[in-house]
Amino acid sequence: MEILKTKKRMQQWSEARRKKGKTICFVPTMGYLHQGHISLLEKGRPLCDELVLSIFVNPSQFGPNEDLDAYPMDIESDLRLAKEAGVTAVFLPQKEEIYPHDFQTRICLDSLPHHLCGKSRPVHFGGVATVVTKLFNIVMPDVAVFGKKDYQQFQIIRQMVSDLDFNIEILGGEIVRESDGLAMSSRNAYLAAGQRESALSLSRSLHLAGQAIAKGEKNPAVIEKKLIAFIQGFPETRIDYISFCDPTTLEPVGLIDKQILLALAIRVGKTRLIDNALIDPSQ
Ligand code: AMP
Repeated sequence: MEILKTKKRMQQWSEARRKKGKTICFVPTMGYLHQGHISLLEKGRPLCDELVLSIFVNPSQFGPNEDLDAYPMDIESDLRLAKEAGVTAVFLPQKEEIYPHDFQTRICLDSLPHHLCGKSRPVHFGGVATVVTKLFNIVMPDVAVFGKKDYQQFQIIRQMVSDLDFNIEILGGEIVRESDGLAMSSRNAYLAAGQRESALSLSRSLHLAGQAIAKGEKNPAVIEKKLIAFIQGFPETRIDYISFCDPTTLEPVGLIDKQILLALAIRVGKTRLIDNALIDPSQ
């Protein structure tokens, strides 16, 4: 497994492989790897000759009062897990390598970034789209795998790849959960013991909503009211949003008469957690 720290070395590595006719699969991350990240690597591994992982805590996707400086890191463990997962190259750039002092370009999408997390994180998706564009140009993959845990991000990347004609196949990996249902996240490391219980309100809400929809409830407002009461029953929770929306456009739906995305963002203490599920009333 090679560790490449500069854009130039990463590009040269990829170019050399492509010249030999090798295909490249890419999984971008911010590190502090857990089984959710590993599942994306495992999905990608059999699809291509090479498997590239990037680890970069991207400052441009954090707002001024967010957790950039506190974001957890453990490069040694990440490199060990990457090797075990069959990664052939790790791209591990410094901030200045990705954003030189004269950097001034930003990728914007018209509508998708303004729903769900975009409402409370206005700079987030512009930062994500910009860094992913740069990483695509540096790594030059044939396939890239993103987790549906960040469903809005996944949709935005798919839209951007289609709009900007990137010749890259985008695949989605299912959400990997702890045995009690909590979606794995690097940010779970922030949760104190009591808060861990409150964090379960997310996955349990998805389950409750699924049950209500299966019983025939079609009105999102009725389910939302129940979920608000349910979540508020857990200590230290503060709801950012509960959204019943169209899985493609992320526009809110007024009636649950076909498959919808239920997306949640909740603060537990100072930690902001997200989760989601696709729910189909006909199933
Ligand atoms: P991050 O390091 O949080 O930026 O995540 C890197 C990639 O891993 C993104 O595509 C995430 O959607 C994905 N990911 C994070 N957590 C999970 C999870 N629990 N299940 C599946 N994919 C995940």
